Amino acid sequence: MHLLSIHSLSDDQIDELLRRAAAFAIDREAGRGLLAGRTVFNCFYENSTRTAMSFAQAAARLGAQAITLSVEHSSVKKGETLADTARTLGAMGPDALVLRHRQNGAADEVAALVDCPVVNAGDGTNEHPTQALLDSLTLQQHFGSLDGRTVAIVGDIRHSRVARSNVALLPRLGATVRVAGPPSLLPEDMTALSIDEAITGADAVMMLRVQRERMDEELGDAPGEYLSSYGLTRERLALAKPDAVVLHPGPMNRGVEIADEVADLADRSLILRQVANGVAVRMAVLEMLVARP
Ligand code: ASP
Repeated sequence: MHLLSIHSLSDDQIDELLRRAAAFAIDREAGRGLLAGRTVFNCFYENSTRTAMSFAQAAARLGAQAITLSVEHSSVKKGETLADTARTLGAMGPDALVLRHRQNGAADEVAALVDCPVVNAGDGTNEHPTQALLDSLTLQQHFGSLDGRTVAIVGDIRHSRVARSNVALLPRLGATVRVAGPPSLLPEDMTALSIDEAITGADAVMMLRVQRERMDEELGDAPGEYLSSYGLTRERLALAKPDAVVLHPGPMNRGVEIADEVADLADRSLILRQVANGVAVRMAVLEMLVARP
């Protein structure tokens, strides 16, 4: 089994992953030694702090060894294709391969070429399934259940694999999703609201980074302009429910899509809880794929 997208998971598998992740999140001893002697290859062709380190930490907590491909120093720089790299790594017999790549569908391509489970750790603008799972776990921990909750996803939706995976997952858990962003950063295939409409009355607001590295043209915004027009300020957050929570997948661009005072809001900013849950979710994923394939 692979984890390539939210769509590839059944409802039962989603429930099991969230249940196991919740257990890993509260008990640091849970899962100890479960994957002793196993190896997980971490192959990140795009920058990562949270996802790369939390997969390594998840593997370590399960007793597996995470081995990192240093893409910068690899034969990728000598012109080796993704397919040849995948076959090469697969021939070494890892127990799982975690891949982040700028090309949509990269994880599917690799999964077809190797014998071990492949986890999509973000493919271009397509999907980032473990991020959506950790976001749902974070919201479930806070609210008890997602049933009847409204989540506003706001920002650069067009380039966001996080938004795509969340739009696929949250409604399956009973939540209503509203998406909103600057007009030039909305995709054609999603119905969007204005930012204020999306935030009004929401239980949770998930802000997204402006992904300038995926843009062909400059946004052309003056310093501070994005925050006042589209970012999450205290004033804009006041449109949501009084106790609404704030999420962000990171990395944050403080003062662009999110104001410091909101990012650091005591009790209502769940951003570091998301990071912590990232380890638990990735443990659950490795357990499902490697320990019980
Ligand atoms: N870290 C997330 C991702 O890799 C979100 C972001 O980069 O803005 O998709």
